[in-house]
Amino acid sequence: MANPRRKISKSKRDKRRASWMSDLSNPSLSVCPNCGEPKQPHRACMNCGYYKGQKVFTPSES
Ligand SMILES: [Zn+2]
Repeated sequence: MANPRRKISKSKRDKRRASWMSDLSNPSLSVCPNCGEPKQPHRACMNCGYYKGQKVFTPSES
């Protein structure tokens, strides 16, 4: 049977389980090609409502 050679230490195990926490606090951002604002990748831009060059929604902000 395939088996890990070494037991994973507590610190390594805990680091792996904690890694997703840092993604919440500092999410990676891409730049909107339409308005240049930072936006979440693979999401419509919250500023102008464009995604893949098409208007997906109209941002309702004053
Ligand atoms: Zn935009």
